[in-house]
This record gives sequence, C-alpha cells and structure tokens, in this order.
Amino acid sequence: ASGAHVPALVIGTGYGGSVAALRLAQAGVDVHMVEMGMAWDTPGSDGKIFCNTLSPDNRSYWLRTRTKAPLNYFLGFPIDRDISRYTGILDAEEFSGITVYQGRGVGGGSLVNGGMAVTPKRENFGAILPTVNPDEMYDIYYPRANAGLGVGTVDPAWFDSTDCYQYARVGRKHAQRSGFPFVFVPDVYDWDYMKQEAAGTVTKSALAGEILYGNNYGKKSLQKTYIAQATATGRVTISPLHKVVSVAPASGGGYTVVIDQINTSGETTTTKTVTADRVFFAAGSVGTSKLLVKLKATGMLPNLNNEVGKGWGDNGNVMCGRANHIWDPTGSLQSSIPCGGIDNWAAGGAFAEVAPLPTGIETFASFYLSITKNPNRAEFSWNPATGKVDLNWQQSWKQPAIDMAKTIFDKINSKEGTIYRTDLFGVYKIWGDHLTYHPLGGAVLGKATDNYGRLVGYPGLYVIDGALIPGNTSVNPFVTITALAERNIEKIIATDL
Ligand code: FAD
Repeated sequence: ASGAHVPALVIGTGYGGSVAALRLAQAGVDVHMVEMGMAWDTPGSDGKIFCNTLSPDNRSYWLRTRTKAPLNYFLGFPIDRDISRYTGILDAEEFSGITVYQGRGVGGGSLVNGGMAVTPKRENFGAILPTVNPDEMYDIYYPRANAGLGVGTVDPAWFDSTDCYQYARVGRKHAQRSGFPFVFVPDVYDWDYMKQEAAGTVTKSALAGEILYGNNYGKKSLQKTYIAQATATGRVTISPLHKVVSVAPASGGGYTVVIDQINTSGETTTTKTVTADRVFFAAGSVGTSKLLVKLKATGMLPNLNNEVGKGWGDNGNVMCGRANHIWDPTGSLQSSIPCGGIDNWAAGGAFAEVAPLPTGIETFASFYLSITKNPNRAEFSWNPATGKVDLNWQQSWKQPAIDMAKTIFDKINSKEGTIYRTDLFGVYKIWGDHLTYHPLGGAVLGKATDNYGRLVGYPGLYVIDGALIPGNTSVNPFVTITALAERNIEKIIATDL
C-alpha cells in the first residue's frame, strides 16, 4: 500500500531478485518484491497458463499488437501475426541496432528461457568476472546455484534412443565428423517428466513445442524453485503488475520508491510511494540499466558514478540454420529443450547450442544459437528529448560474432557438403544478427558498484542481476547470474544488515 515502509524492496523477480529475496527472508528480513509483469498463476480460457509457441495469442508478447518471433521467417515467408495488446510474457524490446528479448512476469527470464543451465569452464572465468575469486565461485556459489535451480542433465542412453532428440543427434554427428567436441548441456527441465511425455503418460510440454511463451509443465522456472522457497518463509510479498519508476533518498533515511500499478493494457491505474531501508535493483540488465541511467540524469540519484550504463554486451548471440541432406532428417517431433552444444570457444570463440525447430513437420534443418566472444560493448544514455533511455548498439557490431560462429559452421558445411539456410530470418538472409536473448552489463561489478554490487555513492542501494556482468559469460548466463547473486547477498547479509 502507498505510504508503507519496508526493510528491503526488490525490483524485479528474475534470478538476481529471487536469490536476494530468499536469502534476505531466511536471514529474518521482510522483503517486498515489485514486478512489472503478471503473476502467471491463473489459467486462461483454454485451461492453460501459457500459450504455445506455434499458436501465439495475447499472452505471448509484452504490449504489442503483432508478434515479433525471433525466428521470423519460414521458407521465406514471414510468420508474425496480429495479437491483442496485453501484458504478455515475452518482451521484444527494440533499441536502434538490436532487439533484446526478455521475460516479463513473476520469474523474469525463467518463464521464457530454454532452461539451459551452464556453468562456464573454470579457465574462462577470469575473463567473465575478473574481480571475483574463482575458488569461492567454483567451490561454493556455483554448486549452491545449481542446487537451488534444480539443474540436471539428459540421460545419455535415453538421448541416444528418443525420437525427440534426433535433431540433436544429427547435430552431434556433424560436429564430431568435423572434429568439434559435442557436450551435453544441463537444463532445469524435469528430465523424468520429459521421458514420461515421450512415453505418452503425462501432458506434453517440451514435446508439444512449449518454450518461448512459457512451459505449462516440465520446466522448473523460478516460480517452482527460489520464489516458491522465498514465499514459503512467510516474509516475502510480491506485487505483480507494479513497475518501479523512481528511487531517491528519503529525508528521514532510506529511499523513496515510486511505483506505478498498471493494468493488462499497460496503462497506469495508481501511483504508489513507499519507503525502503534497502533497495535491490534486479530488473535485469536492461531494466536496471535504464532505471539507473534515468535516475542519475534526472537528478534522483545524481551521485551515481559515470560507469552507470556502460559495459553492455549481447553475450555474442547469433543464430543460423543449416540445410541437411535428405538422408539426415532432424525429425518432426523435437523437444523444445536443447540439450547439447558444440564447443569451439578456445580455438574459434564460439559455443553453439544445437537448438530445436519445433514446427511439427520435417524440415531437414539444423538450427543453432551461438554464444561468441564478440568484444563489442554498448552504452545506455538518457535522451532528454524523448524521455527515454537509448542504447548505442549497431547491428554491424555482430560481425565478429558471425565470424566466430563461421569457424564452426563453415567447416561443418564443407565437410558435409551442405549449405546455410537462407529462409529463417528473411528472404535470403543467413544470420540472425538482429537480436539477443542474453543482455548483460550496464552496471558492472567493481565499476558502477563495489565488488559486491553496492552502488557507489548510495549506501543501501544494490545491483544484483545480469547488469553486474560485463557483457559475456562464454555460455548461457543464468547460472552465473544466480551464483554471483548468491555470493553477493551472503556478503551483504553478513556485513550490511
Ligand atoms: P530477469 O530474469 O530479466 O528479471 C528481471 C525482472 O525484472 C523481469 O521479470 C522484469 O519484468 C522485471 N522488471 C524490469 N524492470 C522493472 C521495473 N522497472 N519495475 C518492476 N519490475 C521490473 N539463459 C540461460 O542461462 N539459459 C537459457 O537457456 C536461456 N534461454 C533464453 C531464452 C530466451 C527466449 C530469453 C529471452 C532468455 C534466455 N536466457 C537464457 C537468458 C536468461 O533468461 C537471462 O539471462 C536471465 O533471466 C537474466 O536474469 P536477471 O535476474 O538479470 O533478470
């Protein structure tokens, strides 16, 4: 309620926010979580909470009147369709040179992501978070994060026999024939549930193509892990459809937080003001960066340092497809949960997930999301003319990522006598270079904050999400975001409370 006072307010309910809420609550602190998206706990008229990737409806996108599918073409035809404007689950947020996909709702990105839960190779950690002690991460916080998230790996024997991973087995065969290591990628999907889906004994989720707009069954999103644990403490409350618009020092100490309550059309219905002793920015790399850049520029938090908004990267994301020969079908039934990758990080700067194309028909296509060592970094800045925060990324900055991905796929194509698909991202367009799923940075650890996420200049303000990570994690990012949050909140609870 407006006028309330809370000891700890958490902005956002993704990985960073959920870790902070659980650990603070366990330490005896009452926590209020504020989330701009919906709760996603109530079935729609079709009896399901989330809609299917193949039949998007108003639940699929955040305040759009037309879908904006990451894979926006098929056989050269655009596949996007009109929907009604609603506070749906996937935000395709457009900046000048890049579309940044993000989850909206209680659970943040965990609602929409592939659940691939990858701990980076230790030898790569120094480049990911140079100011963090790797021993404590690999001995304590990565294991803690993996346990809290419920990470598991596909049963290799089942992988070898099930129809739904034929596409991944083709991916493995082609990788290995070109001399690249194929590695199993852990995931938070319930692998036993997936086996039962394949056996036909439970309602299908991964095997029904559910992913981008939510999984109704097998995926262990944060709603089922950290957030369930946090609310079970009795100390955590969550306000969905509430958006934080301002944070500023309060006259009596602590911070005044201004929150817009919105309806499912995205309109503000009420504006509330609360006071918080401590505020945790966990609105995601983009959400946290936008708030901090705006609050600094508009005089709400003028003492934030000049690192705020800087060091943003796309985790080197780039997508492509390959056209297989007729004797290499990838299967009409494809699990929407990827489980394998091609590791050419050390030699070529690329780690490629073998991704599904769960269209329900045989496509003879292999599809990949590559994470690359793209060195380009962008910066957020306040635009007083529009009253919005801009990001100066340019589409041409993806070229290093394409070059790195080509170290894998040019070689495979030459070995297999195959070619790139040109019909998945436009008419005759090979590379999906217009987007990222993995925004990182904007309030980098040890630069905009101290080495534990405390914002410089404002005691009691913390960053605890993907904004802390300087642009790249060498693999999919959420395990690292979770582990870093576990590390930082432990220190904050021990020394600041
Ligand atoms: P988020 O999870 O983004 O959470 C931030 C939350 O804050 C959101 O719920 C948002 O609605 C809310 N918020 C923002 N601004 C405000 C505000 N002003 N007021 C209130 N609330 C606000 N990563 C992997 O590791 N493996 C994968 O397989 C994978 N697949 C992905 C697939 C897709 C389609 C996408 C989009 C992402 C994927 N990711 C994957 C990335 C991963 O989901 C993100 O890195 C992760 O969710 C970021 O965590 P976070 O805590 O930084 O923020």
